[in-house]
Amino acid sequence: MYLKSLELSGFKSFAKKANLDFNAQVTAIVGPNGSGKSNVAEAFRFVLGEQSIKSMRGKRTEDLIFNGGESSARGNRASVKLAFDNSKRLLDIDFDEVAIERVIHRDSLSEYFINGSQVRLRDIVELLAGAHIGASGHHIISQGEADRILNANSRERREMIEDALGLKIFQYKREESERKLEKTRENMDKVESLRKEIAPHIKFLKKQVERVEKTIALREELKNIYRQYLKRESEYLALTEKALADESAGPKRDLERLEKELAAAKKALEASKHKDVKSSELISLEARLKSTRESRDDATRSIGRIEGEIASLEKMLARERTSADAETVTIEYSKVRSLIDRVNELLDDISSVPKIRELLKSFLESNKNSKSQNRAGDIEKELKILRDRKIDADKESREKETELAKLSSHYAALQKEIEKEKDSSRDAEKAMFRIMAEENEIRGRLSVIRVREEKLRLETEDFKRELGEGAALIGRDITLYESDQAASAPEERRVQEDRRREIEKIKVRLEDQGGASPDEVMKEYKETSERDEFLAREIADLERSAESLTNLIKELEEKLDTLFSEGIAKINSQFKDFFALMFGGGEAALSVIKEKKRKRGPSAEELAEMGIETGDEAEEGEEETELGVDIRVNLPRKKIKGLEMLSGGERALTSIALLFAISQVNPPPFIILDETDAALDEANSKKYGDMVENLSKHSQLIVITHNRETMSRAGVLYGVTMGREGYSKLLSIAFNDAVAVAK
Ligand code: ATP
Repeated sequence: MYLKSLELSGFKSFAKKANLDFNAQVTAIVGPNGSGKSNVAEAFRFVLGEQSIKSMRGKRTEDLIFNGGESSARGNRASVKLAFDNSKRLLDIDFDEVAIERVIHRDSLSEYFINGSQVRLRDIVELLAGAHIGASGHHIISQGEADRILNANSRERREMIEDALGLKIFQYKREESERKLEKTRENMDKVESLRKEIAPHIKFLKKQVERVEKTIALREELKNIYRQYLKRESEYLALTEKALADESAGPKRDLERLEKELAAAKKALEASKHKDVKSSELISLEARLKSTRESRDDATRSIGRIEGEIASLEKMLARERTSADAETVTIEYSKVRSLIDRVNELLDDISSVPKIRELLKSFLESNKNSKSQNRAGDIEKELKILRDRKIDADKESREKETELAKLSSHYAALQKEIEKEKDSSRDAEKAMFRIMAEENEIRGRLSVIRVREEKLRLETEDFKRELGEGAALIGRDITLYESDQAASAPEERRVQEDRRREIEKIKVRLEDQGGASPDEVMKEYKETSERDEFLAREIADLERSAESLTNLIKELEEKLDTLFSEGIAKINSQFKDFFALMFGGGEAALSVIKEKKRKRGPSAEELAEMGIETGDEAEEGEEETELGVDIRVNLPRKKIKGLEMLSGGERALTSIALLFAISQVNPPPFIILDETDAALDEANSKKYGDMVENLSKHSQLIVITHNRETMSRAGVLYGVTMGREGYSKLLSIAFNDAVAVAK
């Protein structure tokens, strides 16, 4: 026995606390009409968690609370407590006695308790479902509802049978799994849409990353080619510099030498400038020579002329004298005396002989015949003048001759000197021409070298610029070219130029790649793709759990189907017997039918609208089916096929047979039968009583009845009365009093 007791307090007509102990397998509740018996059955529904007020004959919750009677006030609270003996762990909870309780107030929702602890309705439902007790009340047959199972449609019927077969627990599980599945799908949709949201960003970032990677590769390429280029170039520059230095050393030395030589030559030429002074001296000397020569010639000429004149005068004089000599002349003594004195005077100096001669001669002349004397005297005077003049001219001539000789020798010496100097300046000039020619040639060579040096300088500048640019583009790494191995094979300069062109090309391509910061792009891409991967994993997880839920649901459905089919088969074998027993023959059976059902999920069309493709398994037009249960009856001696053709009694008998068959297959811990026997005649009441007894072997029975036969099968009887106070009372009664109480 599982049921221990039921306590009602304020529930419907039970204003005062009333208690029923279930100490027997069959408990009968008897009492007059309207005393509140059915309220007891409803109290069971209530405490088990029934949510339909209607099924407890109320419209609102407060209809379940005692509403007051003639002499008693209405209550504000209704509670029902059902106690189980749980020593056999009927309920999956670790207590030997379990009391579940439901309380309602006029103004609030229901409260549920298990052993005094408040719980959720769900906790109660689950706890009871595990014990094959449900709020659906398959084991509570309300008054007038015995044939509910006959009236129900095939689907409802199936549900009632499933419930009775204890399949509810699987259904709960299935529903829970479906809920979870739905939730999982919602989450999948959410995650999918998150992924879709970030997909374009990832695509964009991926392109960026590809560009960045390309840039990195280009940089690497650039670095390599740069290092090769720089290595080669530095070697080339060093070699070229050395070669140019070597090449220019000789010419530079030569040039230095020539400079010295040139200086010497210049000095020599400088010195020859005196030559001009000498030349002009020579010219003036020539002029002087000429004038001196002319003066001498003049002197010579006048000497000749004077000599001619003297000669002619001397002839004239001689003639005069001859004539004069022949004449006698008287001379004054004083004159002769003065002559002798004078001669004596002159004789003191022997060198004055000519003068003496002259003196004597002129004495003679002056004492000549006066006429001829006079003429001779005149001639002599003239002669004297001429002779003086000749003396002067001779002197002059001699002097000029001497001067001429002096000038000539001076001239000759000067000329010689000039000649000599002319020679040495010619040499210097020659040397200068040679030096200049040589210098020209060397300068020509040097200027070729300088052109090459200039080229080298430009190349060195280019090299430095490249180094700078390279370092800016690639980093200081580039300067490590120095540590690179020496470029082995010699190559043409053209190759290096090609390299440089390649460098320029790569630079342009790098510029085209744009300036997104590679680190940031990589980081963002990493983060975003990690998020995407996380979402993908999330989806995979969700898919897995959706799959396992689907599998679970499938398993549960298969299990439900199997258990259901098995259950139906078992019920049928019992139903057949009970039916035959009740009707004294005939046949009855349940049959499982497949019924079309609206699909639970969205249609293929709706799915297509959402952009979800449907596979072949969800072809349009295909309808899901569900199982229903049909009842077939075949009354003995009657040709009745449809349930609707049965009489009230026949309907009652058929449903009782079916209910009992169901209960037999999977006996619930207790069954409540509220006047299920109302329509039975005496003979059938007996059969009903037998079946009650039979059922009570597996389930505790609470029968509400007016039927004496039924009462007789009960171990405990309770009478429900309602007095003037207007509320129901319970009292334990003996069988013998029961019939009386029931009336
Ligand atoms: P019958 O034998 O005719 O089926 P019964 O014994 O099963 O009768 P119930 O239907 O259980 O009687 O009881 C109905 C009685 O309970 C009515 O008299 C009704 O007035 C009373 N009742 C129902 N709800 C309330 C309520 N909220 N407060 C007070 N009384 C109530």
